[in-house]
This record gives sequence, C-alpha cells and structure tokens, in this order.
Amino acid sequence: MAETFRAILVTKGQDGGQRAAETHLTEADLMEGEVDVAIEATTVNYKDGLAMTGKSPIVRRFPLIPGIDFAGTVTASSDPRWKAGDAVLANGWGLGETHHGGYAERARVKGDWLVRRPPAFSAMQAAAIGTAGYTAMLCLMKLEKAGVTPGDGPVIVTGAAGGVGSVALAILKANGWHVVASTGRPQEAGYLKDLGADEIVDRAEFSGEGKPLGKERFAAGIDSVGSHTLANVLSQVKAEGAVAACGLAQGMDLPTSVAPFILRGISLLGVNSVYQPQDTREEAWSRLARDLDPAMLASITREIGFEDIISAGADIVEGKVRGRLVARLT
Ligand code: NDP
Repeated sequence: MAETFRAILVTKGQDGGQRAAETHLTEADLMEGEVDVAIEATTVNYKDGLAMTGKSPIVRRFPLIPGIDFAGTVTASSDPRWKAGDAVLANGWGLGETHHGGYAERARVKGDWLVRRPPAFSAMQAAAIGTAGYTAMLCLMKLEKAGVTPGDGPVIVTGAAGGVGSVALAILKANGWHVVASTGRPQEAGYLKDLGADEIVDRAEFSGEGKPLGKERFAAGIDSVGSHTLANVLSQVKAEGAVAACGLAQGMDLPTSVAPFILRGISLLGVNSVYQPQDTREEAWSRLARDLDPAMLASITREIGFEDIISAGADIVEGKVRGRLVARLT
C-alpha cells in the first residue's frame, strides 16, 4: 500500500461552495514538478485565511492543498540545481492558489520556485517569516530604491499588529527609521513598542473618508490595509515621500485623488510578492537574515498545531491574529 501523508484539502461541493478539511494523500496525488520536498514547517497568512474560508477566490483549481508558504528539505530532484538534503523555502508562485501548497507533509514543485534557506534560519523560523515577513522586506527594499531615508522623517506602518506589519516594524527600526504604528488594537501597544514602534496611532484616524491633502507627517509608509487607510496615508506623506502598498485588509478600493502625486510628488509603490524574480527573493531573504533579530522574530511568532490551521484561517480574516503563526509538520 502506498505511504500516506497528512494534508489539508480544499474541495468544491455540488452547490458550488468550498470547504477545507484535513485528509491523507499519497505522493501520486501531488502535482507536476521536478523537486520533492519534505515540508517541516508552514504558516497562516491572511491570503491563506481567504483561501480556506472561501471569502475571496484565491483557490483557482480544485481539489487543492492550500498554503502559500513552506520550509523543508529536498528529498528527490531531477533539477540539477537541487539535491536531496538541501534546506529550502518557497513563497508564492501560485502555491495554494493553482498548485498544491504548504499544508501537507510533502510537496512537489518546480525547481525555479525554491529559494535556498539562509543558514541563519531554521525551517520553523523561515516559515514564521513566511510570505508576510518576506513581503515586509520587499516593501522596505522598494522604499529604499525610491530614495527615501530615515533622515527624511518618520515612516508609518498600517495594520501594525498583523503579520506584514509586525515584521515591518522590526526591520524598519533595525534600519534606523522613526516608526509610527497604526493599529486598531491599542491593547497591543507594549508589543508594538517592543518590536520597534516609536509612536502608536489609532487606525480609526485613517480608516474613514479623509481630505485629498492633509498635514505632511510622514516621509514614507508601508501599508497592508488599502482602501481609506491608504488614501489617508497618501494625503499625509511629505513632498517627494513614498508609500509601499501590499495589502487590502480594509478593502480593495483606493478612494483618493491625484493631489498627493501632482502637488507633493509622492510615489505609490506596488508590491507583489508572488511572482518576484529569484534574485529579488534571495536579496530579500538575505536582508531578513541580516536585519531581523531572531529574538524579535520569536516574540512575534506563535506555534500552532497542524490541526489548528483551518481555524487559524478563519481567525486571521477576522483580524484576531497577532504577528505570525507557524505550524511544525515533521
Ligand atoms: P494580518 O491579518 O496578519 O494583518 C492585517 C492587519 O490589518 C490586521 O492585523 C489589522 O491590524 C489590520 N486590519 C484588519 N482589518 C482591518 C480593517 N478593516 N481596517 C483597518 N485595518 C485592518 O494579515 P497579513 O499581515 O498576512 O497580510 C496583510 C495584507 O497584506 C493582506 O491584505 C494580505 O493579503 C496582503 N499581502 C499581500 C502580499 C502581496 O504580495 N502583495 C503578500 C502578503 C500579504 P491592527 O489590528 O494592528 O489594526
């Protein structure tokens, strides 16, 4: 009898509705790819929550193993770049969307999708950083490329107590920024300050309809919230400042005007972690190894069991998760 492994599977019912459930699969159930990986750790991002609850059409092929990230060890490879025993991680590339993802003890993927795990990180640490942390670093790299520096003024991080936000606070602080954290959870002020926030602001200040231009407060921003929040941040960025936008926790819309762009010359920098080229991924991961203090990473990470992943998906879309969640698989 073929050996089985644990997995979560999202299936579509006769009524068109989808459901996520734990199951056992065999290697014959895996999709095409040149590299087999024994997954050691995975995580729950906001997007995974959307995928498992079906709140947004993230899963585009059924049945599918969700999970946009994993970290593990190569067990077999027909790609000459990888061999059994290599420590790897993967983020994006359609994992958990169109290709079986990280919520299983085994994966089979294209060699192009894997990143060599920096020696600084265990599988658990790499998964704890996951797409959220790697995206926070992509945002910082975009801001740096745009030429804004800590000397220009403060940076605002929206969705600060979330996964992207928590890592953003820590890496911005490590790079010398004065960090303003916007949160709807004032009870997390101590947590946010320990991570690197110099000031805490109530997200209600940003989440309603605002003016096209406001007082110039910030040199830069990292926004994982979108909608009115991003519009209000844009209206309060200083001349020639820049905002990296990666998320839509408040909404997909962006009710703003051209005023911040044409009257203050600010830049809105889009960040898409899913299809980044390999050299950008490697740069982001080596910057994380340099800038993210392991003690800080531990303080934002909570370990959950494999059996908790589905309920954690529901919690994260309801904004109930603080920092990062990580699950050990083997
Ligand atoms: P989390 O749920 O961990 O964090 C989101 C945070 O946003 C929450 O913790 C909360 O922060 C805040 N928030 C939630 N709902 C609202 C609301 N209605 N109004 C204002 N603020 C709100 O998610 P992640 O950090 O994993 O992801 C954040 C966003 O970034 C998601 O939209 C995700 O899809 C996107 N993303 C995009 C990527 C890309 O490639 N572009 C990659 C990774 C993530 P607080 O409690 O502090 O207010």
